[in-house]
Amino acid sequence: MRYIEPHAHMVSRVTDDYVAMAASGCAAICEPAFWAGFDRGSSAGFHDYFLQLTDYEPKRAAKYGIPHFCWLCINPKESEDVGLAKEVLSFIPEFLDRPNVLGIGEIGLNKNSRNELEVLEMHIDLAARHDQLILVHTPHLEDKLKGTRLTLDALRNNPRIRPERVIIDHVEEHTVGMVLDAGFWAGMTLYPGSKCSPVRAIDIIENYGPERLWMNSACDWGVSIPLSIPYTALEMRRRGHSAEAVDDVIYQNPLRFLSQCGKFGLR
Ligand SMILES: [Zn+2]
Repeated sequence: MRYIEPHAHMVSRVTDDYVAMAASGCAAICEPAFWAGFDRGSSAGFHDYFLQLTDYEPKRAAKYGIPHFCWLCINPKESEDVGLAKEVLSFIPEFLDRPNVLGIGEIGLNKNSRNELEVLEMHIDLAARHDQLILVHTPHLEDKLKGTRLTLDALRNNPRIRPERVIIDHVEEHTVGMVLDAGFWAGMTLYPGSKCSPVRAIDIIENYGPERLWMNSACDWGVSIPLSIPYTALEMRRRGHSAEAVDDVIYQNPLRFLSQCGKFGLR
């Protein structure tokens, strides 16, 4: 088995996780910028985090033979403070040329507030001006449907955004259709308690087809499973999906999307 982990917060994981992922066939890891489990005290905290994502973490992943890529932004949970967000956005461009940076993410909404929406629009504009791919986080539970609608509107309101260069992550049964119908890519997050379970993700693949869909573990400091993609692949095989069909979803699809960034490559 081979797979690409397109969404994992490895700065919060231990080296044993890298060993297990490498041994399970992980060919690349992509790490969106996100919350740290606490609110950072200043924009300098984000500057240090971007150094960690673009310098230290790729070296740590390389020790296990895994190429490491990242996405940069101020995440939705910390974008209520528009002034802080403007400071962080002001120095993101100086990191965009780094060899492992794929684009802007994971941007989006958390509580669907007016300030979050303003910061989301600032990120979309930044991505458009610098011709970057976009990775979008969608809100949890009861906020997801409205937040997904608001996010799709914000993306469509920017005429320079091409939907095939944007992935909307954490989709569920009630949001995947609107994302795919609008021409965007959709990510399914495999969580033990919320978001998508492996069984639900496979149901979605069977209902919508595999095109423009990927799966990720979004593993972080909370309850999450770094090997949830290979575990879900085993479940797909058990349900009768061919090895080629599994490979298409867990390896070829992320490869197709991520290869739109010329810096993405596998060893
Ligand atoms: Zn995430």
